[in-house]
Amino acid sequence: MHFLKKYYLIAPGPTPVPHDVLIEGAKETIHHRTPQFLEIMKEAMEGAKYLFQTQGDVFAFVSSGTGAMEAAVANLLSPGDKAIVVVAGKFGERWMEILKAFGANVVDISLEWGEAVSPERIKEELEKHPDAKAVFTTHSETSTGTVIDLEGIAKVVKDSNAVLVTDAVSSLLAEPLKMDEWGVDVVVSGSQKGVMLPPGLGFIAIRGEKAWKLIENSKSPRYYFNLLEYRKKFPDNPYTPAVNHMYMLNKAVELIKEEGIEKVWERHALLGEATRRGAKALGLELFSKRPGNVVTAIKVPEGVDGNKITKIMRDKYGVTIAGGQAHLKGKIIRVAHLGYMGPFDTITAFSALELTLKELGYKFELGASLKAIQEYFSENM
Ligand SMILES: *Cc1c(COP(=O)(O)O)cnc(C)c1O
Repeated sequence: MHFLKKYYLIAPGPTPVPHDVLIEGAKETIHHRTPQFLEIMKEAMEGAKYLFQTQGDVFAFVSSGTGAMEAAVANLLSPGDKAIVVVAGKFGERWMEILKAFGANVVDISLEWGEAVSPERIKEELEKHPDAKAVFTTHSETSTGTVIDLEGIAKVVKDSNAVLVTDAVSSLLAEPLKMDEWGVDVVVSGSQKGVMLPPGLGFIAIRGEKAWKLIENSKSPRYYFNLLEYRKKFPDNPYTPAVNHMYMLNKAVELIKEEGIEKVWERHALLGEATRRGAKALGLELFSKRPGNVVTAIKVPEGVDGNKITKIMRDKYGVTIAGGQAHLKGKIIRVAHLGYMGPFDTITAFSALELTLKELGYKFELGASLKAIQEYFSENM
C-alpha cells in the first residue's frame, strides 16, 4: 500500500530539532566580528554553562562531537603521557584511537560491551598508575545503551593526580550531569543529541586549575583545537564560529530553561523506563548491564534478522531507530529517548516495532508493549 509517509526520527543522534529552534537557524547570517554577534555568542556560552552545570569555561567548535573529543586529548596530554581509558563500546574505542593517534601511553580498562566500569575499578587502576595524567570515560556509551556512575567515579578521581574527562555527547541533558557539584574536570559534547540542535557543534567544558595546567603545558600538535587560543579570544572566536547555530543554541537553551534541567532529566528517565517496559512486554531482553535513559539497546530475538527490523521500520513505516554497531550489527536495535522527544515518540517507536516484528514472524500479542507503556504513562505522568 502506498500512502504518505511521515518522518519520525527516534535515533540516538541526530535527534529531532524543535521548529522554534529551526526557525532561529533560518535568520540572516550576520558578520561574526561585530558587537551584535558578540552579544549572541556571550549569551550562547552562558547558556551552555547551564547545560553542563558549570561555572567553568565552555567553548564550541565547528565540528561534530568527535572534534571535541580530539580537542580534549590534544590539549590535556603530551606525547608519552599516561592515560587511563575505559573501553566498553564503540565510543570508548574512539577515545582509545584518538589517544593512540596522539602518542599517549594508554592503560586500557577493556570490558565486555554492555558493561559499566565501576568507581572501584577506576580507583584500582589509579593506585596502580599514580603517574596517570587523565582518565577518559564515556558517560553514556551510545553503542550499548549503558550509563556509568559518573558521580561515583568523580569522587575517586578527585583524590588522584589525574583529571577526569568524560564523553557526554549523548548523555548531556538525558542523564543528570553536574559538572561542578560532582567535580568532573573536562566534559565534551555535541549539538545533535540532547541539546536538540542539528549536527555541527562540538562542545568542551573545562573546570579548575588541574585541567588548565595540563592544557597550558601540552606539547601535542594542535592548531584549530588549541584551547589557549579560544580562552584568549573569548567570547570572540579565533576562527569563524557557526553563527546560525548560536542563534539556535540560544533558543534551545531557552526551551530547556523553560522546562527546567531537572525536569528534562526526569522526562528522559520516564521515557527510558517506558521503553524498558515495552521491550520486556514483548519478551525481549535488554543488552546493557546498566541501562541508561539516553537510548535502550534491545537484543534481537532468535530467528529474526535484526538488519531487517531497522530497514522495515524506516522504509515501510517512516520510523528511524538505530541498529547495532560493529559486532552488534543485526544483533541489537536501539530505540532512543533523547532530546526533543516525548511519550508519543516512544509509543510510535513501539507501534512500528510491533508491526515489523509481526511481519518478521516473531510471536507475541499485538499491542502488548503499547499496553505496558500506556499503563506506565497513565500512572506516572
Ligand atoms: C554521537 C557520539 C559521539 C560523537 O559522534 P559525532 O558523530 O562525532 O558527533 C561521541 N560519543 C558518543 C557517546 C556519542 O553518542
